[in-house]
Amino acid sequence: MTTNAELFERSARIIPGGVDSPVRAFGSVGGVPRFIASASGATVTDVEGRQYIDLVGSWGPALLGHAEPHVVAAVQEAAARGLSFGAPIEGEAELAELVAARVERAGVRPVERLRFVSTGTEATMTAIRLMRGATGRDLIVKFSGLYHGHSDSLLVDAGSGLATFGLPASAGVTAATSAQTIVLPYNDLDAVRRVFDERGDDIAGIIVEAAAANMGVVAPLPGFNAGIIDIAHAHGALVTYDEVLTGFRVSECGWWGLENADAAEPYRPDLMTFGKVIGGGMPIAAVGGRAGVMDLLAPVGPVYQAGTLSGNPLAIAGGITTLRLADATVYERVDAASAALRDAIGEALDAAGVAHRIQTAGSLFSIAFGEHDGPLTDYAQVRASETWRYAPFFHALLDQGVAAPPSAYEAWFVSAAHDAEIVDRIAAALPRAAAAAAE
Ligand code: PLP
Repeated sequence: MTTNAELFERSARIIPGGVDSPVRAFGSVGGVPRFIASASGATVTDVEGRQYIDLVGSWGPALLGHAEPHVVAAVQEAAARGLSFGAPIEGEAELAELVAARVERAGVRPVERLRFVSTGTEATMTAIRLMRGATGRDLIVKFSGLYHGHSDSLLVDAGSGLATFGLPASAGVTAATSAQTIVLPYNDLDAVRRVFDERGDDIAGIIVEAAAANMGVVAPLPGFNAGIIDIAHAHGALVTYDEVLTGFRVSECGWWGLENADAAEPYRPDLMTFGKVIGGGMPIAAVGGRAGVMDLLAPVGPVYQAGTLSGNPLAIAGGITTLRLADATVYERVDAASAALRDAIGEALDAAGVAHRIQTAGSLFSIAFGEHDGPLTDYAQVRASETWRYAPFFHALLDQGVAAPPSAYEAWFVSAAHDAEIVDRIAAALPRAAAAAAE
């Protein structure tokens, strides 16, 4: 039998850090990452044959649980007809229509056009280019601790892996590029107003996670998302609302749908980005939005964007099948599992005397250790929390067969396959983990 340790050593000899995406390396929690051989429903199984209850969910896509049989069958059927053609296929319009139709509240449909790409990084990178192309301006506003993928202009003061490893920015991003990204504290509308008052004529747009979930979970304060749209529009700038992580995970209609559930006049971002759940585990993402902006894309307009594998038949099949299956009952199950799990975590930590706050945005959640007066609202507060308690907590869970995200700065993901029995099994592992966090 090959062990995780052997594979990690072998991988590290040829792949930097032994992984193809940094947070997978267990860098902030220590130890050897598990090399996964297979996954099914709520569990993953490593190369040593050990099964874990999975709370990573491929970092978001696995809304229905792993290897959902209909999704697997659809991808297999598509594969048998050919892997990639580099030509349009019927399913692209179907998946685009499915995505666009879901993002609807009170007759408002912000997604009038949609283009598929292969990763969330490409989607946000294209959105930035579109905002610049549409306005003829250079500056972009983003928020501290929010992550939008790894394109140069969006890596400044970003969350996810950069937060995990405590990096303010990435080497290799030029000073000129960084200078075109203005970083503001999240949830601070006054800061947005001030920067637009000073430099509004030069700002192409704002990019914001629909609800921040890459510095742990930090929900937007009421009025924040709508407020930044008002401010940007008053200065002729645009807003990209990044739902790569939240889209079709926190509700059938994403975070936008949750925030606008009862709104008579839903706010309307100019562009939205999607990824993760829209492929159900296949590599696909999308940028969508107002026709007037989206039609600037080549071949209709002057903003260039392309992709060899964009809209490839396997990813489209995975996406269509996933979204068709992701109905109201799926979200009820995911919400119920998340709520039960949060309760169990809170009880275990309270019983062990560990001060904490469970941060939520819909079914997404994370744990901020330490005393906090109320919900944490920005990156500075998250960084000031007792993140060192996370590593022992994480390892005590892992030792008992529960795989939480290997970083305090990542959201926990549950799926429709996380039923009451799975939640009970996690709950049984929590007292030992809470005791470890208490030390
Ligand atoms: N935007 C958000 C909000 C994300 O959470 C992520 C990835 O975690 C991305 C963009 C980038 O997506 P990808 O990793 O597919 O490039």
